Amino acid sequence: MRLGFDLSGKRVLVVGLARTGVVTSLFSAGYGATVTATDERPESDLSETAAQLRAAAVKLELGGHVPASFLEQDLIVVSPGVPAKLPQLELARAQNIPVWSEIELAWRFLRGKLVAITGSNGKTTTTALLAHILQTANIPTLVGGNIGTPLLALVESSTDPSVTVAEISSFQLETIDKFRPEIGVLLNLTPDHLDRHGTFEEYANAKMRLFENQLERDMAVLNADDPEITKRMPAKPHIFWFSRQKRVAAGAFLRDNEIIFRNEGSEAVLARRDQISLRGEHNVENVLAACAAAYLVGATPAAIANGVKSFSGVEHRLEFAGEISGVQFYNDSKATNVDAAVKAIEAFPGPLLVIFGGKDKGSPYTPLRDVLHERARLALLIGEAAPKIAADLEGAVEIRQAGTLERAMQLAMAAAQPGDTVLLAPACSSFDQFENYEQRGRTFKDLVARHANQSATGAAAAEPPPADKG
Ligand code: ADP
Repeated sequence: MRLGFDLSGKRVLVVGLARTGVVTSLFSAGYGATVTATDERPESDLSETAAQLRAAAVKLELGGHVPASFLEQDLIVVSPGVPAKLPQLELARAQNIPVWSEIELAWRFLRGKLVAITGSNGKTTTTALLAHILQTANIPTLVGGNIGTPLLALVESSTDPSVTVAEISSFQLETIDKFRPEIGVLLNLTPDHLDRHGTFEEYANAKMRLFENQLERDMAVLNADDPEITKRMPAKPHIFWFSRQKRVAAGAFLRDNEIIFRNEGSEAVLARRDQISLRGEHNVENVLAACAAAYLVGATPAAIANGVKSFSGVEHRLEFAGEISGVQFYNDSKATNVDAAVKAIEAFPGPLLVIFGGKDKGSPYTPLRDVLHERARLALLIGEAAPKIAADLEGAVEIRQAGTLERAMQLAMAAAQPGDTVLLAPACSSFDQFENYEQRGRTFKDLVARHANQSATGAAAAEPPPADKG
């Protein structure tokens, strides 16, 4: 345990009751705090959760927040979905009541080393890959954060030799206090979540908070190819770079087919590039970052190479979804911002038919123009953001308004030719038409399977009947 925090007898308010809020409430109650939990959703939407929390003596304020409650606390823990600038939180801060994210509380209790991974894109892939490499290296590994299991839920299984690999979002970093990973990894900085952060500068500042409490003995693993990162280098930690484009004095880079780690003049070959089964140059960056962090944590080069070789990727990230009549279908539903969609398109030579759209997040779509012009024959637009996307892409590629994913698939099926690739890379979040990006990705995969069936039965029907043997 690091700083710890004595929860016993403290009044704790938990804001937001999705998975993280529930874990936080139960954890705090378990450590003797008097817990109140609040959510804007009414009890009818939260019935199971409400029963579970009441059974643990958590007081509930549902269907809206009670402003006075925010001022009667020793600690407020906010869930990642709750805006850090909520007026009630500002009032609490003005009264010196600490407002933390769950990762702050968890960090104080976690044992062992913490490797925290952030960036605009690639966090989940890199987190899953690093955890996989460490498991391959027989290092006791826990994995959590934004990728799924809240960090607080890992506290009980953490031990002094264990390594926790955590995916951390900008939302979680907005409300840290002393949170300090032994190794912080920053993959890239491109515009995202501007609807919530306001400006790119504010968003980048939130990301850079990953390093703000690090000491000289801690380490930062940074993308040397990203100018937004090199110009914001943190001052204190020992810096290791990773680069796809150049050789670095300290860190991981490519030399021909080899992934090299260099430090203080000595070199180790960690893996080979041709052992990477993930598509796209962006995934080479994720692999370089994961290899560097794995080596710094103590994995051997042999284990790193084995881990890289046996990692097949994460669902909804450039996931192969099927092939119909020579047309391949890829699900990149997790491309929820413009840069991720650009990277996804760059991973295919083309010709591409790309499905875009969903809920707009405030960034322009113009960075898609060049890659689309180069590789795509058609852009199919769905969801709320369709008019804005059409305006931003006009003239760069042929555009069709499809409205829904179902219709986009029909149009794609009609327009695609053998050798083409149909790619779902929405560049938007999914909340206008779907529950989340996972549901959007599953819907796409179901549609591909349905069209595959139809085309198989259609083909069977079109086949000449078997010759009459009688
Ligand atoms: P995150 O957890 O940061 O959202 P994921 O690993 O889930 O990252 O990948 C999200 C999307 O971003 C993927 O669908 C892929 O298209 C794209 N992507 C993945 N890694 C990178 C990277 N290093 N740089 C740019 N885009 C990436």
